[in-house]
Parts: sequence; C-alpha cells; structure tokens
Amino acid sequence: MTTAATSPADATGVSRPCNRCKEQEGTIELRVAETVCKSCFAYYVSSKAIKRLEALQRETSAPRGSGSGPRGQRRPQRYLVGLSCGPSSTTLLHVLTENVRQQRARGQKTARFEYIAVHVVDDTLPSSSAEPEEPSYLAAYRARFPDADILSVPLSSALTLQSIDWTSLPSPPSPKTTPAQTLSSILSLLPSTTSRADIRRLLVRHILIATATQHTCDALLLGHNTTSLAELTLSETAKGRGFSLPSLVNDGAVALPARLDGGAANPNNPNPNIPASLPIYSPLRELFRNELLTYLSHTTPPLTPLLPASETGSAGNTNSAVVSHRDLSIDDVLARYFGAVEASYPSVVANVVRTTGKLGHGGSGGSTETVCGLCGAGLDELGDERWRGEIGIDAGERDGGSGKRRLCYGCERSVRG
Ligand SMILES: [Zn+2]
Ligand SMILES: [Zn+2]
Repeated sequence: MTTAATSPADATGVSRPCNRCKEQEGTIELRVAETVCKSCFAYYVSSKAIKRLEALQRETSAPRGSGSGPRGQRRPQRYLVGLSCGPSSTTLLHVLTENVRQQRARGQKTARFEYIAVHVVDDTLPSSSAEPEEPSYLAAYRARFPDADILSVPLSSALTLQSIDWTSLPSPPSPKTTPAQTLSSILSLLPSTTSRADIRRLLVRHILIATATQHTCDALLLGHNTTSLAELTLSETAKGRGFSLPSLVNDGAVALPARLDGGAANPNNPNPNIPASLPIYSPLRELFRNELLTYLSHTTPPLTPLLPASETGSAGNTNSAVVSHRDLSIDDVLARYFGAVEASYPSVVANVVRTTGKLGHGGSGGSTETVCGLCGAGLDELGDERWRGEIGIDAGERDGGSGKRRLCYGCERSVRG
C-alpha cells in the first residue's frame, strides 16, 4: 500500500492538494514523486487500461469475416476476461465495469465493448474434490458485479479440449470416476511441483482460449501487470520456453488450431466460423502489482475483501489469470522475488518486460504450422529447433507424417523432468 498521508514536506499538517486536480487532498504517492487524490489515482489506473483497449480496437478493427454490417454499424467488440480473482484480474473487471457504466451515464446507447468473465476453478485440489460446487468467493464477485457475466469452468474440463495433446502427458494407471480425479491423477504423475504448476497454467490458458472461441469473443483479456509479466518472462526462460516468450508476454494474436472446434477437425478445411487467430491482450501491462493493490483498496466499497484468502498475501502472489498454486513452484519463487524487487527497483521490473517487448510478437495468424501439443507455440517458426541446437540437444525423431504431435523443449522438460 502506498498511501502516504505524511511526508517530510507535510510536517506542518497543512493538507497537500492533489498534484493533478489541485482540488482534493493528495493521499497516494504516484511513481514520479507525485501525490494524487483517490479519484486521480483511479483515473491513472483506468486510463492506462483503456488506452490498451483502444489499441486493441485499432489493431483489430478490420471486420471479421463477412458478418459485419455497413460502416458505423459494427457490433461492439466482445471480450473474454480471464478472472483468476487475484488483484490484477479483479482490477481489470472493475475498470471494464466502470467504463461501461460511465459510457451509459454519458448517454451512449451502445457500449464500445461488452465482456464476459471466466474463472477457472481448480477442481483437482483435495479441498474442492468433495464438493463440485463453485467456490464461495465467486458469489461475492457476482454480488459486487451484478452486470458482469461471470462464468466458472472446472479445470478438469480441459480433458475434453482437442487443442491439447493428452497423449503427451502421463496416463492414469487405473480408470477414474470423475474428470477431476482423472486430471488430478495425471498431474500427480508429473515429475515436480514446477511441472504441475506449469501444466496447470497451460490448461487454464487453453480453457480461456476455447471459452473465448465458444462465446465468439473478439479478444481474450488477461490481468497481467508489469510485475507478473516480469515473473512470467523469467519463469518461462527458466523452464526452457525462451523461444516463445514474445508471444507469451506481448499483446497480439495467437493462432487458433482448427481442432479447437472440438469436432472432426480437418486442417485443410477448418470451420469457417472459427477465426484463424485470437488477440490476447493484457490491458494492465503498464501498472505494477502494488499500484493495483492500492486501486483495489480505494474503490467504494474497497474491493480488497473480495479477494480469496489465497490471493491476499503480501505482494508475492502467483501471477494473475492463473489458478492458485498451493505448492511452491518456480512461479511462486519468482513471484516472491519480484514482489520484493518491485518496491525498491521498479525500473528493473519494467525493463524485464520492455526488453522482451522489443523482441516483437512471435505469434502468427496461420494455423497450418507445426505447433507444440501442449503450449501451442509454433515450433519451427519460433526457433525451437535452433533453441535446442544452441543448448546442445538433438531434435530427436521428427513427426515424419505419423500424425503424432511434437512438444517444444520447455513442455518436454515439464512432462518428462
Ligand atoms: Zn486529484
Ligand atoms: Zn510447448
């Protein structure tokens, strides 16, 4: 929390006006030694997010397919918000809700965008296996955001997704009665805590992309902030997925495999209703996690009490848009690390993300390239072979037309240890 009611200059007790509006009292320190009031701080956070959404609208303004009406009659863009119920995605949901409310208050008949939020419930955790109902904190979110459409999807539903090569993962030794037990068994056979956290994160991503497609959304919005993007950058590098970093960290479109359709996928004749790619954006990418925590504590009423207990620890939480991990994985370690670094060296954290950003977005709109059967990264295009070569690993046997999909170096390590 960066609420600073006092500072050396303030010792006389005279209230300091906000540096921006000069009207209300400045109570919150902004980055550049600026003290601002509650409403100017809220505006600072929301305008950064809305600017990214405007960029998204510009970059995706080419009408999709032939379904768009005449100029000026385009339907509002529909977003899918990955809601992990952590500080970032909660902020994102609030910013979107407030923006739509303000658009209505200004008398705008059609909002510029509409959105649905999806929370992936980890039903493989022991605590939740007894009761398949959704967690109680979701009811609080629905009560607080009555206008938002909040869906919950069990993590085990990923078992039905054909975008994932399940044959590359361990198979349970004996048949299980529920999908949650099956997935739990598969995860328990992975070599390490880091592997389990990694595969869980990939499954959440697959579910969000599939749900966005099912609901004909124009983009998937993730709650990543500068801090969590820096964590993601280092953890993915450590896991051997350095080659796919640009497409994971930067905003842009990811190719959708035709098999996301779920039906009989024919790569030569993909379902024309399914777009070739889906833009994935992180509108909060220019804000630090601590700034989002400040935002949440200054809404009326504060949103902080809404966060589930697993998300309210100090700055060192797992990154957003990911179900909570109970055990300490490399993601947790880095989250703790960056939670501490962010406070003292914010520019270091921002530079990690900026450097990755300069690499450019590696994703493509095509769906015919060879993709990793787990993380979906385009293998050759993104240099996975070169990556293996440089670290001295033989590419091993090729696909050879057998139809068996390959894994990237990082996923292979995650599965096999
Ligand atoms: Zn102000
Ligand atoms: Zn992979």
